[in-house]
Amino acid sequence: MKKISVILFISIFINFISNEAFCKIVTQDEVFIDNGITTDNIWKKLGTREEKINLVGSRLLNENKIPKRVFFKLEKGNYIVNASARYIDKQVTVYAGLLNYVDNDDELAAILAHEIAHDMDFYKGFGQTIVMAFNKKSYEYKADLAGIDYMVKAGYNPVAMLTIMNKIGGESVLDWRLSASHPKTSKRLMKDYEYIYKKYPKYLKSDMTKSVYYKTWINTAEKDIQKFEQREKERALKREAI
Ligand SMILES: [Zn+2]
Repeated sequence: MKKISVILFISIFINFISNEAFCKIVTQDEVFIDNGITTDNIWKKLGTREEKINLVGSRLLNENKIPKRVFFKLEKGNYIVNASARYIDKQVTVYAGLLNYVDNDDELAAILAHEIAHDMDFYKGFGQTIVMAFNKKSYEYKADLAGIDYMVKAGYNPVAMLTIMNKIGGESVLDWRLSASHPKTSKRLMKDYEYIYKKYPKYLKSDMTKSVYYKTWINTAEKDIQKFEQREKERALKREAI
């Protein structure tokens, strides 16, 4: 009996000690301090890249008063040069490889704004995703143009849509119907340029047009730009004549 009492006492004591150790109420700060991380240095410790993506993404959402939830994630271990939006949970993913090509906040905003635009279409429901799946290219153009609007409203320079796209976009051989999911980058760049020219012309005189990446594109698109601008001038003259 005495033995049983001693064993019982010891087991209750051990139980008490271990409960004390595991159930000690700690605040979030204490847990973080244990790892050398506080709420003040969390981004520095865990990743300035995540912080930047969240800040630029949040600025786009807030300044455009986006009425739906979108969240941003950096896929750290994935070095493909890409970003994506997901129907299933509206996550915008930036793959680590892409960040190596981003030179400023405006270029990051261009990428995030394009993906936010895809998410806004996803919010229209599953039927819309089917329509998008069969019209991939036109929805890419649409996301670029909506993205440019989002950028300007949030105070970013839309020329960055051209510089980042020129850096990362491939020039596919096949560009026919369903043979490619994305339009040829040269076509996409031209459409984006035309949109900026018509809607936000002042940015085409901004310092960002001095970027080497903008110039390399201009060198390849000079003739198309001249033709487009000539057409626009003729159209304006016709309007004046009427
Ligand atoms: Zn896209």
